[in-house]
Amino acid sequence: MHECRIYKMFIMLKGTMILTIAKNIQDFTESIPEGVKLLAVSKTRSIDEIKEAFEAGQRDFGENKVQELVDKFESFDTTIRWHLIGHLQTNKVKYIVGKVFLIHSLDSIKLLEEIEKRYKDANLIANVLIQINIGREQSKTGIFKENLEELLSRIEKCSNVKVKGLMAVIPKGSDMENKFYFKEMKKIWDSLRERQFENITMEYLSMGMTNDYKLAILEGSNLIRIGEGIFGKRNYNI
Ligand SMILES: *Cc1c(COP(=O)(O)O)cnc(C)c1O
Repeated sequence: MHECRIYKMFIMLKGTMILTIAKNIQDFTESIPEGVKLLAVSKTRSIDEIKEAFEAGQRDFGENKVQELVDKFESFDTTIRWHLIGHLQTNKVKYIVGKVFLIHSLDSIKLLEEIEKRYKDANLIANVLIQINIGREQSKTGIFKENLEELLSRIEKCSNVKVKGLMAVIPKGSDMENKFYFKEMKKIWDSLRERQFENITMEYLSMGMTNDYKLAILEGSNLIRIGEGIFGKRNYNI
């Protein structure tokens, strides 16, 4: 009797959780402007949680660790689109070939050359974004904007890498500071969009997370990366 009650409570709790993820997806999808892509950041989340989002119609998911992405990859069919949003070490490129829709974190010539080599061997095209360390933070990865030109000219010589835009993780700060960094990113994105390159187009400007996505969209983001806003608070200890 007692056990039965606890079991029922569990079912109810689980039901609410599921509803919440689906509801959040629905709310985001309905409230963001057309032309803005919603990326559900599923790092630390279980397969079940991701499936709930998937069943609610979400197709783009972001992971920040190669191992976690590769582990989760097996549980879904090819209609899911995985994005790698965390730092990519050159020695891990080989594990993601053929598994990701978009790599958001190209930030060095060394990494570019490894991506080019691995994708060429597999006869596949890598779609990537250049990550810019717009706040010049020591703790963050991404290329400084003064090193962009050299990277761009190397990309133009590639045969298996296509750059589709830019990505940034801005420093933590006030709305005014956030706005400043989003504007800086938009300026760079616009200036590149006006130029003609081999292998480089400016389709995506990936910026904005749960706490600042509204401002990011106002400043020109067309790809927002939402984790906690969809799945609830993350617990890194599980
Ligand atoms: C975790 C993460 C996000 C999502 O952050 P939330 O605050 O949970 O929305 C977005 N981008 C990157 C690169 C991340 O690592």
